[in-house]
Amino acid sequence: MTAQIIDGKQVAAEMRAELKEKVAKLKTQNIVPGLAVVLVGEDPASQSYVTAKEKACEEIGIYSNDNRLPAETSEEDLLALVDKLNKDPKIHGILVQLPLPKHINEDKVLLAIDPAKDVDGFHPANVGKMVVGQDAFLPCTPHGIIQLLIRSKVKLEGAEVVIVGRSNIVGKPIANMLIQKAPTGNATVTVCHTRTKNMAEHVKRADIIIAAAGRPNTITADMVKDGAVVIDVGVNRVEDATKKRGYRLVGDVDFEAVKEKASLITPVPGGVGPMTITMLLYNTVRSAEKTLNS
Ligand code: NAP
Repeated sequence: MTAQIIDGKQVAAEMRAELKEKVAKLKTQNIVPGLAVVLVGEDPASQSYVTAKEKACEEIGIYSNDNRLPAETSEEDLLALVDKLNKDPKIHGILVQLPLPKHINEDKVLLAIDPAKDVDGFHPANVGKMVVGQDAFLPCTPHGIIQLLIRSKVKLEGAEVVIVGRSNIVGKPIANMLIQKAPTGNATVTVCHTRTKNMAEHVKRADIIIAAAGRPNTITADMVKDGAVVIDVGVNRVEDATKKRGYRLVGDVDFEAVKEKASLITPVPGGVGPMTITMLLYNTVRSAEKTLNS
């Protein structure tokens, strides 16, 4: 069997077109969704990610408020900016790009964001609501994975899902979403990590494998059941002298071999990646829509 490719770029484009319509409708009601992005320092990966976010906002008509601050910005000044954005009615979503410089306490800054504007879904108030199944901003990468699965018509109910990775931004939230008693959940979930014994035995059972370890070739073909659905979240740089920049990006899955056993598989790049920013736009539009009923 050769797997069908889940095209994240295409699913993201479909969702962005849906969001563009919602933004146009909100504008007829005099609401322009606004996303504030805060970037402290000059980390190149963060800078290009923030630029991509700004471009995506522009594409669908969201007002993008950019705050690029020098690396030496104090924690006090950053907290004051977050407070200002919390109070700004033009802003419906606030995103503080991580990592922050070492002299700033990340937890303190994330806690300072108004949960009603926490479009990253990292505030403990939103995490708690997600866990107990209440309406919350869902974190973008895991929510993007759920959308990819649903829009690819993958049956979640009763599915054996094995997740590799237990981080707060991917592994834990996706596990929580998939066990919810809801059409977007109802799966049976196993979470593996570096202390898991016989990881391959767990992965072999999976109808759906979600790889979020941050290590190339964590999932090899011998670990994959025939017909499994494989979602590769990993983004890893491996040296490649044939490339101008000297490296290429790969996921956590041995793609070439695993695609011969899986029924559906996401590529890297072009799988989960394009969904993350899309879900950030989704949360921002939802936040703006909520102001209509408040
Ligand atoms: P992270 O915080 O480093 O967590 C990695 C997790 O994987 C940890 O729980 C770790 O276990 C586990 N792990 C690592 N090696 C393992 C192994 N050999 N066997 C079993 N478990 C292993 O990473 P993250 O932030 O979740 O990100 C994971 C990957 O996804 C990274 O490549 C990242 O770049 C990518 N990512 C992509 C997107 C996107 O939009 N495409 C978004 C977020 C992240 P322990 O807890 O025991 O250490």
